Amino acid sequence: MIWCVEDEAGIREIEIYALNSTGFSARGFSDGLSFWKALQEETPELVLLDVMLPEIDGITLLKKMKADSALSRIPVIMATAKGTEYDKVQSLDLGADDYLVKPFGMLEMVSRVRAVLRRCQAVSAPAQAVSGLVLNPEAHTVTVDGQRISLTFKEFALLQLFLEHPGVAFTREQLLSQVWDTDFLGETRTVDMHIRTLRQKLGRYGSRIETVRNVGYRLEAQNDG
Ligand code: CA
Repeated sequence: MIWCVEDEAGIREIEIYALNSTGFSARGFSDGLSFWKALQEETPELVLLDVMLPEIDGITLLKKMKADSALSRIPVIMATAKGTEYDKVQSLDLGADDYLVKPFGMLEMVSRVRAVLRRCQAVSAPAQAVSGLVLNPEAHTVTVDGQRISLTFKEFALLQLFLEHPGVAFTREQLLSQVWDTDFLGETRTVDMHIRTLRQKLGRYGSRIETVRNVGYRLEAQNDG
């Protein structure tokens, strides 16, 4: 069940309609209090949370969720108003999984919901396709031969995707859509840049991320030889 917290009835109804008609089931809340009350009794799969809400705003609600161990793992996508860069940055810093800038299209909203759910569902299966290279999705850490390395959010997501699909060649477009949630093809160089920095950070395992000519990239599967 996806919960949509949005005080504008028109937007809320469209969100619910869009989710219900794409295979999800959705429930709406018009204010933070009723949402918070329901959270004490049920656990949604994901929350689409508006920042600008009467009485308790979305940022405060997000903080409260992240401070509560029973709620902190529920994925949250924040809906921020156009031009409020601070809200976006703050949302991500506070642990939101993604954000949408209003006004957003319903197709985009549904695809973000899918992407966040996919990422979060992978969390229960720690990926270890390459021994010596350990990615812990819950702690959001990566170690190389026991040494902790620091990856950016996107580098981490790329590595996680590769580790979960060893041997699978991904096109740059696929990587863009899965890791950046965008289909904007002009950005494929972004992928190359991130692969380059990721390889550097992975040290001797960097070469495991192979360039597949005319395709994209793949992780060389475990090779004991
Ligand atoms: Ca609002």
